[in-house]
Amino acid sequence: MSGCLFCKIIAGEIPAEKLYEDEKAIVIRDINPQAPWHFLVIPKKHYSALHEIPEHDAPTLLCGLMNALHQTLNATGLNSNGYRLVVNSGASAGQTVFHLHIHILGGRDMQWPPG
Ligand code: 5GP
Ligand code: ZN
Repeated sequence: MSGCLFCKIIAGEIPAEKLYEDEKAIVIRDINPQAPWHFLVIPKKHYSALHEIPEHDAPTLLCGLMNALHQTLNATGLNSNGYRLVVNSGASAGQTVFHLHIHILGGRDMQWPPG
């Protein structure tokens, strides 16, 4: 989608530190980390949020997204130290980039409830 930051990163037009990539998704390091480990799992196909994915695309896209997440957890060692997954959906939930992504946060103790 033209004008979308994450679409530009996926297209290689904006640089990012990539941890993982396959045909369905990429995983990059967040530019403004909120924890010692802060990665973003991003589907290559542009949808603004989970609820925007049409039924016909959901199984393939979500499976690809979860697979990239799973690979990353096991490759980084986050799995042994605890981690939090966050999907901000909508401006009032704190979403600032309107291309679906899952935050992976780890490497520090977390608070509950989140702010
Ligand atoms: P959101 O606020 O939409 O849930 O998450 C967007 C995330 O993208 C933020 O954590 C922000 O730090 C990150 N971000 C924004 N611009 C860039 C960028 O150019 N490169 C990378 N790697 N992350 C970015
Ligand atoms: Zn996009």
